[in-house]
Amino acid sequence: MSKDIQVDSTSEFFRAGEQEFGDNPIAVRESDHYAQEYVGGIVDKWDDLIDWPRRAEGEGRFFVDQLKARGAQRVLDAATGTGFHSVQLAEAGFDTVSADGSPQMLAKAFRNGLAGGGHLLELVHADWRTLKGDVHGEFDAVICLGNSFTHLFSEHDRRKALAEFYSVLKHDGVLIIDQRNYDALLDGTSTGKSSYYYCGDEVDAVPDHVDEGLARYKYTFDDGGEYFLNMYPLRREYVRGLLRDVGFQKIDTYGDFQEKAGDHEPDFYIHVAEKS
Ligand code: SAM
Repeated sequence: MSKDIQVDSTSEFFRAGEQEFGDNPIAVRESDHYAQEYVGGIVDKWDDLIDWPRRAEGEGRFFVDQLKARGAQRVLDAATGTGFHSVQLAEAGFDTVSADGSPQMLAKAFRNGLAGGGHLLELVHADWRTLKGDVHGEFDAVICLGNSFTHLFSEHDRRKALAEFYSVLKHDGVLIIDQRNYDALLDGTSTGKSSYYYCGDEVDAVPDHVDEGLARYKYTFDDGGEYFLNMYPLRREYVRGLLRDVGFQKIDTYGDFQEKAGDHEPDFYIHVAEKS
């Protein structure tokens, strides 16, 4: 059980609210808003959207191999969500701490950890921008996956979050952080649909509005449920530049888990950033 928060998913704290975007949804461009987006129905539906077995098949051993190649043992999953990677890493024998800024996602992760192999995930409720205040000790690796970093809307917040990730890493630690291929979406060379992350059959995930400052996605489920996420469309070279500025020495960027560009636009980029 977590040392940091008690999970009682029946409490109002975890049940409160449904998504709220106000009268002008495309004006919602704030880093704090994620906490109001990962609430209610979308939390319950998230695992239908992701489809864990198909996602596991798509990713293969990529993350486990990256971590093992560097001898990593203690890993911080900074964007736990409903726990997909935390559970995979626990299954693979890593010592994992599972952080997220959404208590509702953490509560679901805890249940998924129990259901997926009886793992008692160590949960920490933490916002990346103030991570060090809540997450203790040092890590061999930090992972921030599933297109999570996209929720930060200001450069200041992105730099602050990356600096916090950098500072909880050991001197030879690694940060693995991914992003949707927004370049292709912004430049009109892709429809913005993904086959690696959003694998569920019962859901349609499509861009609802795109400009240089916002990618608003709409998720429609078989039962008619509709949810939205407002995200900042990060360009690949911009993120690599931020990682360099924060101090990471070596940054390798993979497209859909491949080192070399294939003959199609990747859905996702994965940056593997080494501290030394
Ligand atoms: N990594 C999971 C996956 O791949 O399924 C979850 C991905 S979900 C797209 C993004 C997660 O990032 C959400 O659980 C959200 O609460 C979390 N998040 C977004 N902004 C955050 C912030 N500033 N601090 C902490 N967590 C944040």
